[in-house]
Amino acid sequence: MLYANYHTHTTRCNHASGSEREYIEQAISAGLIELGFSDHSPMVFHKEGYYSGFRMKPWQLEDYVKTLQDLRKEYEKDIRIRIGLEAEYYPELFEEYLEMIRPYDIEYLIMGQHFLGNEIGEPASGAPTDDENRLVRFVDQVCAGMRTGKFSYVAHPDMMPFKGPDEIYAKHMARLMACSLETETPLEINFLGIRDHRAYPRNAFWEQAGKAGCIAVFGCDAHSPNVTADLASLEVAERMVREYGLRHVDFPVLKKPN
Ligand SMILES: [Zn+2]
Ligand SMILES: [Zn+2]
Repeated sequence: MLYANYHTHTTRCNHASGSEREYIEQAISAGLIELGFSDHSPMVFHKEGYYSGFRMKPWQLEDYVKTLQDLRKEYEKDIRIRIGLEAEYYPELFEEYLEMIRPYDIEYLIMGQHFLGNEIGEPASGAPTDDENRLVRFVDQVCAGMRTGKFSYVAHPDMMPFKGPDEIYAKHMARLMACSLETETPLEINFLGIRDHRAYPRNAFWEQAGKAGCIAVFGCDAHSPNVTADLASLEVAERMVREYGLRHVDFPVLKKPN
């Protein structure tokens, strides 16, 4: 049974389809109690003319929140709608980022660390690599993000397709897992990765996470309404939870970023 999903996109990110209403109605018909929207957050950049194409623009945030607030009211008898964002932890821009979203009633952030550093001129976290240094940077950055206390969970923490030795991977992921435990930040089993047959969820990661005692959450990562409650991937994720002895929560604590 899937009770909640906090990883849902909208067309504002330029690579999702369907209306907010369609996502909500899918969630209701699948029996979800709570549906959280977490579209790719707008970010601030300091380079003239630069803006990444896979996220909403700052000027769209107002409409995003307002649209969802109206729908939350309209559907309040059927489902609890939560309004969040999938954000990057870009260290040099993070304070300014929090300032940008402060005027809006954002209920939670999930960390989707799609780039290293502050994005510009940096490698994508999803690019295959055997460079230990890149893995170290990813883990350091995700840990620093968790330590801000602003993120309710980490989306696809296993998204880096590291091709180097397994022991090196395990050594650095042990740090990420320790930080997840220390900061009580759950880690997401990402259903988009399951249904798209991506390199994540990475079994070795979750086996280690089970042994470490980490807490897992399920995230549908829906970019179209038909997978708002992705029950086919749920079966795979439930099997992982059983097989690796993972602790799993349906309703992670949602932390207001501001
Ligand atoms: Zn996306
Ligand atoms: Zn993501």
